[in-house]
Amino acid sequence: MASTDDSTPTSDPGASAPGPLAGQARPSSSAYPESVTRLIDELAKLPGIGRRSAERLAFYLLKAAKNDALALARAIADVKQRVRHCTICYNLADDPALGSCSVCTDDRRDRSQVMVVEQPKDLIALEQTGAYKGIYHVLMGRIAPLEGVRAGDLTIHDLLHRIQHPASNAGGVAVREVILALNPTLEGDGTGLYLADALRTAGVRLTRLARGVPTGSQLEYASKAVLADAIQERRSMG
Ligand SMILES: [Zn+2]
Repeated sequence: MASTDDSTPTSDPGASAPGPLAGQARPSSSAYPESVTRLIDELAKLPGIGRRSAERLAFYLLKAAKNDALALARAIADVKQRVRHCTICYNLADDPALGSCSVCTDDRRDRSQVMVVEQPKDLIALEQTGAYKGIYHVLMGRIAPLEGVRAGDLTIHDLLHRIQHPASNAGGVAVREVILALNPTLEGDGTGLYLADALRTAGVRLTRLARGVPTGSQLEYASKAVLADAIQERRSMG
């Protein structure tokens, strides 16, 4: 992993002054005990956490009450052991026995409407509005050629399968409408175009979330991109 801080080398024993540990067969020349070095190494792998932050977090955990630190360890173990992706929509599902998530198993929802999002966290944000009563499909990313993410790396094939084979959709209901709720970015838009093309002959209504000036904001403060979108997405008033 990238490390921008050279003050605490962990893999090059020759880089630091010989200390009491020099010459021993240890994986690291760090002055920390091995278990602490391991914790720092693992924390430093987290996104946005550099070596220094990892050290800070490790020391925080060393000082923290034992129960608090173990609760964190247990939460990480639980999330990796229990949480799976829904076999229908790829949302996070907490009950491995069920296989599908709480949205897909809820028969009060309109399973003929499928809203397509990039990540489970987008689904959660949309659920928090309480405004949507259909179900979802999580792509697990977006097409990003520069990062080497192609259509085949996403769950687009599973979405098409849900549409073509109603038995594989939640409740065995046929999909009538697909609503694109991708991020309004270059890559989100590109992914939307790809999906529109892939769904052209699927026999479903294809819509996407409206964009434009958010309610309660003022035109003069809206960005150019938001205003351009608002003009393009204008609605008829009569
Ligand atoms: Zn689901």
